[in-house]
Amino acid sequence: MIKKVLIVDDMKHNRDPLRLILNNSGMEVLEACTGEDGIKAAKESLPDLVFMDLQLPGIDGIHAAQTIKADPATSRIIVISFTSHVMKEDKDKLMALGFDGYLTKPADEKEVHEILRCLNNPVP
Ligand SMILES: [Mg+2]
Repeated sequence: MIKKVLIVDDMKHNRDPLRLILNNSGMEVLEACTGEDGIKAAKESLPDLVFMDLQLPGIDGIHAAQTIKADPATSRIIVISFTSHVMKEDKDKLMALGFDGYLTKPADEKEVHEILRCLNNPVP
C-alpha cells in the first residue's frame, strides 16, 4: 500500500495542490525543492512513492530519479514524473528513462487517485 509520498518540485504552487490531494487521501507527505534534497529525503525517509518534477535547480529530475533507482537502498521506490509534458512520445521517453509513470501538471485529483489505485492493485 502507498502510505508515504515524497513530492520533489521547486515550485510551491505545484507542490501545494498535490500535497492537499495526497493528505486528503490519508497519505503522509514529504516535500523537497531540489533534486539533491529529493535524493536525500528518499534515502532518509524511504517513501513508497515519489512524484518528481523534471526541471529542478541543480541536478534535474531525470538524473535524480535515476540516482534513486540505481541505489539498492532506494531502488524499489516508485518514481512518477510530475511534468507538464503530455504528448505520447514524451510519456514513452519518460518510461524509457526509468520512470514508473507520469502525472501531468496541474495535479488533478482524479488522475492522482487513479495512479494510487493502480499502484495499490497491480495487475498480476
Ligand atoms: Mg521545476
